[in-house]
Amino acid sequence: MALKDFERYPLTFGPSPVHELKRLSAHLGGARIWAKREDVNSGLAFGGNKTRKLEYIVPDILASGATVLVSIGGYQSNHTRQVAAVAAHLGLKARLVQERWVDWPDPLTDRVGNIQLSRLMGADVRLDPSGFDIGIRKSWEDALAELEANGEKPYPIPAELPEHKLGGLGFANWAYELEAQERELGIVFDTIVVCTVTGSTHAGMIAGFAGQDRPRRVIGIDGSATLEKTRAQLERIARHTAELIELGRDLRADEFTLLGDWAGDSYGIPVESTLAAIRTTASLEGVILDPVYEGKSMAGLIDLVRSGDIGRESNVLFAHLGGQLANNAYSGVL
Ligand SMILES: *Cc1c(COP(=O)(O)O)cnc(C)c1O
Repeated sequence: MALKDFERYPLTFGPSPVHELKRLSAHLGGARIWAKREDVNSGLAFGGNKTRKLEYIVPDILASGATVLVSIGGYQSNHTRQVAAVAAHLGLKARLVQERWVDWPDPLTDRVGNIQLSRLMGADVRLDPSGFDIGIRKSWEDALAELEANGEKPYPIPAELPEHKLGGLGFANWAYELEAQERELGIVFDTIVVCTVTGSTHAGMIAGFAGQDRPRRVIGIDGSATLEKTRAQLERIARHTAELIELGRDLRADEFTLLGDWAGDSYGIPVESTLAAIRTTASLEGVILDPVYEGKSMAGLIDLVRSGDIGRESNVLFAHLGGQLANNAYSGVL
C-alpha cells in the first residue's frame, strides 16, 4: 500500500507551518535556519509530534471498538497528554501510567504542565515510581489486564508509540508534506535536524524521504542518552515503515544519522548546552523549546552550524516537535 492509501483521521490543522529563523541564522553567522512547527499543529491540547502520529492510529482505534486508550510515559510525558486529548476528542476514556522516568527534584513535576492538562481532560492518571526505559513495561501490561477484567475494551498505545505498527506513518507523511511546502516556498532543505528518543519520528522521516529523489541529510540528535538502543530501534522502525509504504528497496546505512553529543547523562535532564539553546532561541526568536527534547536538538543544530559541519550555504530545517508544557516542571533551572 502506498502512504496515501493509509487512512488518516485528521487531528491537525493541516500542514504545519514552516518559517525562517532569521535572527538565529544571523547570530550564528550562516546557514539559513528554518523551523517546521509541530508545536502549533493542532487545537487539541497544544498538539505536538504524537498528535501527527496518532492521525494514522485513530482509524485503527475506531475500528477496534475500544472504550479506553491506555498509555504510558514519564510524569511530564507529552505523549500521554496528547493521548488524553485525542481520547477526549473521540469521546473515549484514557488510562495513563505515568512513571518517574526523570529523577528531577522540582516539587511540582507530577502536578503541573503536561500531567495537569491530562487530568483536566479527564484521564485516569496513575503515578508509578519506575525509572526510564524506552521498551515495553510491566506496569503498562498490568493496566491493560485490569481494564479488561473490568469489562473495558482497552486500546494500547505503547510508550511514545514506537512499537505501534503504524507509528512511523505520521512522519513519513511529514516528509511528503514538506516536499510540497518546498515547492511553494521555492526552497530545498538539504539538512533536517530532529530530536530522537524512541525514534519513530525520525524513522518516519527517513522512510518518507527515501522515496523522494532529493539528496538530504536527516540528522537525529539523541535525547535518550541510551544511544545504541535508540539507534537499533530507529533502524527497526524505519525499515518496518519503509516496508509498510512499499518503498521497494532496503534502507542504506548512510540514511541513518544519530548523534549523541547533546543528550547529557540522562533522558529528561538538561545540560548546559540545552539551557543555552533554549535561552538563545527564546531571546532571539520568541520561539520556546523544552529541556527534555527540543533544547537538546537545537543545541546540536547550533554546534553543527558553528563547527561548519552544517555549511554556511546550507538550508537547514529544525523540526520543532512540541514539548513546551514540560517547562513548567523545570522552574528550578528555567
Ligand atoms: C516524543 C517527543 C520527541 C521524540 O520523538 P520520538 O518519536 O519518540 O523519537 C521529541 N520532541 C518532543 C517534544 C516529543 O514530545
